[in-house]
Formats: sequence, C-alpha cells, structure tokens
Amino acid sequence: MQTWLVQHQKLLSQQLAQGRLAHAILLAGVAGAGKLSLANWLVQVVLCRQVQKNNDQGILSPCNSCKACRLYHQGSYPDFLSVTSDSKNIGVDDIRRISAFVETTAHLGKNKIVLLPMAEKMTTAAANALLKTLEEPGLSCVLILVSDDLDMLLPTITSRCRLYDIRPLSGQALLESLNRGQTQENLFANVSQLPELTDEQVHEQFRQFTARLLDFIIKRQNRGALLALLNENTYAFRWLEYMLVTMARSQYNWLSWSALRVKLVTAEGKSAATGAAPGDAIGQLPDSETIWQIYQLVVGCIKQLKSMVQVNAAYLSEKLLVDIETRLDK
Ligand SMILES: [Zn+2]
Repeated sequence: MQTWLVQHQKLLSQQLAQGRLAHAILLAGVAGAGKLSLANWLVQVVLCRQVQKNNDQGILSPCNSCKACRLYHQGSYPDFLSVTSDSKNIGVDDIRRISAFVETTAHLGKNKIVLLPMAEKMTTAAANALLKTLEEPGLSCVLILVSDDLDMLLPTITSRCRLYDIRPLSGQALLESLNRGQTQENLFANVSQLPELTDEQVHEQFRQFTARLLDFIIKRQNRGALLALLNENTYAFRWLEYMLVTMARSQYNWLSWSALRVKLVTAEGKSAATGAAPGDAIGQLPDSETIWQIYQLVVGCIKQLKSMVQVNAAYLSEKLLVDIETRLDK
C-alpha cells in the first residue's frame, strides 16, 4: 500500500473496529492515487469474519482463510457487488442492479458491500436512482464510491457520503519516497503526472504520446495515431495540456527546449520524438503565440468534455486536432 494511503487505512480501521464506519463512503483523489487498492482492502476487511489487527498502527487486515475471505478470493463472495461499466456512462440500469442487490438479505448474514469505481460516470438519472437507495432506511450495506473527479459528482451524492480525500505525495516528498533522486522523472514530479511516474507501463504510454504529439506539432505527421491515443488513453488530454505548458515554458526559457529534448530521449539512445539519435535536430517548435493559442484550444476542448454528460468525445478530439492544424498552418 502506498505510504499516503496508510493514514486512511488507520482511520478506516478505527471506524470499522468501533462500528462507526459510514454506510456510504467516497474515496476521491487524482488518477493513480491508489484509491482502488484502498477500496479493495476495505472491502476485504469489512467482509472478513476473523479480521486481524497485527501491527502497532492498528491497521486491520483480512485473515485470508475464513469462508468469506476464501469466497472473495474465488470471486464468488455472494454479498459483494462491484459495478463497472464499459460504456461511457454508468446508467440507471447499472444502479438498479445495486438496488436489487441491496434489497435482498445478505447470504452470509453480514453487511453487503457495493463497490462503484468511476462514480463520476453516473448519469444524472443514475445518480438520482442511487440517492433513493442511499436513503433506504435500515439498509445493512456499505457502499464504496471511488472517483477521480469529485466535481463531476452531484452534490446531493457527495453530501450523503463520508469523503476520504486521497492525496498522494508530491514534489520532493514523492521523489524521495520513490528513491529516484535527480533523474529525468524530476521533470514530472507533480501530482498530476503521478501515474506516469509510478507505473512503468503508463510511463511508456506517456513517451509514446509525447512522441506522436511532437511529430504532429513539428512535422504535421501522425495525426491518426495521435487521435487514436486521445480516444483510447484516459490520461491523454491531461498529457496534452501538460505538454503544451511545457512547450510554452521552453519558449520562455523556463525550461530550455534542448533540456526538454533530452528528457524525451529514450533509454535506447533514440529520440522518442523522431527516432533520431540524441543531438540530431528534431525541428523547431511553433512560436509562443501559436503554442498559447493551441493551449487555449486544448483547454476549451477539455472543458467541453467535462461539462457535457453525453458528449461525443471522438468527434471533439478530431475537431481539436483539425483546429490545431489550421492554427499551425496560419
Ligand atoms: Zn477472513
């Protein structure tokens, strides 16, 4: 468990041990903050019949051997429901599954547990349906909502949940905890870039994305590949915004372009942006005015994506790239 989650484990353990655990729990924080691992731990200590307290911090852990634990590990614990949705939204039908689940008696006579990751994907109608369930009297159910984006949740939902604000380490503290010191990751030592820092796979995706983006902006190539990444990768829009800020800074010499270029050179000695060896010219960035205007386009697009419930994201990202191209060709 990441270091910053321990304080939450401690608090939740105390509340659970004293029978004060809230029936609606909201774990919120930036992507990559470890909310789901915290949620999964909580599910297990709530359902375990012989929960252990085997450390001086008072943090509970599941025994992993009782009937409930064994069923949970087999994926067949009957009183636990995790509701995920492959589609863009969590709709009323998904919430009805929750209502139907909590209305039946618990098979093993303990609390029922419902986990709802990506709670921000609930439509307004779904959120309203969930409210009805939350308000049902005498409900012996623990509902755990997880969300990357608190602003997207209805206030009526958040106000009925006990909020646990998950804040990962940032800046120097993060670097120290990762024991990475003065590496290229310094550039990304910021909470919003966390998954790129802590997950090798996401880090590689970030490199790929950056390479496609630079190809597109500098050489007007790879629009299709960039569009695909924007549509497929959860983090892509945030990376896009981050890279434009970085480019703008490099124009003002806050971080020189050559330094940025060095950061993008991969371990194999190839430039991520062009496949060229380090030191090769990888082209010039547009002037700062153009970057600023592109940045505005990106921010506007992100706002639109966030504010509309059923916005056509694929259409918006394609339009964004066309707008950027038009801007670059001026
Ligand atoms: Zn157990």
